[in-house]
Amino acid sequence: MNLYLYGFGPTRKRRWLMVDLGLTFAGPADPGIDVILPDIRFIEEQRDNLAGIVLTHAHEDHFGAVISLWPRLRASLYATPFTAALLRAKLIELGLENDIPIEEIPVRAKLDIGPFHVELVDMAHSIPESNGLLIQTGLGSAFHTSDWKLDPTPVVGAATDEKRLRKIGEEGVDALICDSTNAMRDGLSPSEADVAKSLGDIIANAPHRVAVTAFASNVARLRSAMDAAVAADRHIVIVGRAMKRVVQVAQETGYLPSGYDILTEDDYGHLPREKVMALCTGSQGEGRAALARIAAANHPRVSLTRGDMVLFSSRTIPGNEKAVGKLQNNLVDMGVNVLTDRDALIHVSGHPRRGELEKLYSWLKPGTVIPMHGEACHLEAQANLARNFGVKSVVTPRNGSLVRLNPGPAEIIGKALAGRVYMDGRLPVLSGDGPIEDRRRLSFAGAVAVSLVLSSKGDIVADPQITMIGIPATTVNGNLFADVIMQALHGALDGIPRPRRRDAALVAEAVRRAVRAEMRSHWGKKPPCSVMVTSV
Ligand SMILES: [Zn+2]
Ligand SMILES: [Zn+2]
Repeated sequence: MNLYLYGFGPTRKRRWLMVDLGLTFAGPADPGIDVILPDIRFIEEQRDNLAGIVLTHAHEDHFGAVISLWPRLRASLYATPFTAALLRAKLIELGLENDIPIEEIPVRAKLDIGPFHVELVDMAHSIPESNGLLIQTGLGSAFHTSDWKLDPTPVVGAATDEKRLRKIGEEGVDALICDSTNAMRDGLSPSEADVAKSLGDIIANAPHRVAVTAFASNVARLRSAMDAAVAADRHIVIVGRAMKRVVQVAQETGYLPSGYDILTEDDYGHLPREKVMALCTGSQGEGRAALARIAAANHPRVSLTRGDMVLFSSRTIPGNEKAVGKLQNNLVDMGVNVLTDRDALIHVSGHPRRGELEKLYSWLKPGTVIPMHGEACHLEAQANLARNFGVKSVVTPRNGSLVRLNPGPAEIIGKALAGRVYMDGRLPVLSGDGPIEDRRRLSFAGAVAVSLVLSSKGDIVADPQITMIGIPATTVNGNLFADVIMQALHGALDGIPRPRRRDAALVAEAVRRAVRAEMRSHWGKKPPCSVMVTSV
């Protein structure tokens, strides 16, 4: 998730400019959690000093937390037309269209936000309108790249504005804050136009139905696939809400022509197999998305059969490998021909490789490079690249680092409260808090609950109640675990002299230990065990 703050002024009166307010999607390691939001308490506490929020582009990791978190900040929110339109479309779907005012600004806008002069610069990426930001204050200038790559033929949207970047470099840039996602890859990225050609060739030669899955927001890719369908005389059917939303917004904002022959899911079943191309959501194996439902043969209107083809025009985000693998295996089991970016050039990343980073350094000639957007190894890879390129000052902050840019030299001067907030249903849970950790333990060893009623003399009054969740039924010898637990319970009780059994806490702890030890000797695992003792 991405959220950056640029500050200007003395400590107590410092004004802030926020760049992006993104979220991240939780993986299987966080059971029960859908999304993870940034912990914004640091800026919330001084929101009167927050001059404004600029969204660089409409990827979820950059703008996905706006709807949840903007109400806690209520600062002016700036976005270019495509980003604003996508945000508005989401707000309308949620019935919240009047809740968040968006200040729509043109691409290449220049605006003053508090003490910050901000200029937007076109950067090519895997979504229209990724905006680099030249941020100037009375003390100096920083260039925040946003997510970018170099692509002279991006199919949709503007190429990275080399001319303006060179000019900015001549005017002088103190610090470059730069995307590190692909800093471990050598060379230059292939162009989106190369992908378009490859998709065109494959779809033209496909014998039966074709389904293409991609990130819904990748308008250039949607266009490439749709153009390939038109060239191959196929009808286009869009399957999945997120993709329909993006196509509509892209047509309204001029990034997709409106003339495409797009049919509905209801038409799909009536079309000859060689006359249809479906564009589907679900490239990450998401269980509820269109492609997973098609692969499980439970989509109400769209199906695939033996000899059809699915193109994964996407990258698998780390953490989703298993889900994607399962989806692809399901499709293969149906007799569907699955093609990924390992088989053909049907996907390129939207982030700069090392050759592109070096070109940007040469255009901007920054005094300092600060790697952002990536894990520690990506940040360090860019830091080393910048040093080897001859950049004199390189600072590699981590989440929460406070970096002083000017007066120089740039260096880390402290740490702000930063972290993750896990959305557990409707409730926010701070990282490190109990429930998610408990769920992980439950998934490993289940749980046992025991309920005991003791008389004042310390005798068992009623049959003890045992509840087992996620515990195997029998031991290797075929004994019931319920009996094993019952024996452990009686054994523990027998070891406590009757007068001491009035101490309910002591009894509960002795039973708990005995049950866990006995479970381990039969099973090799010690499940959490809770014991309730009632004295009558
Ligand atoms: Zn990003
Ligand atoms: Zn992005």
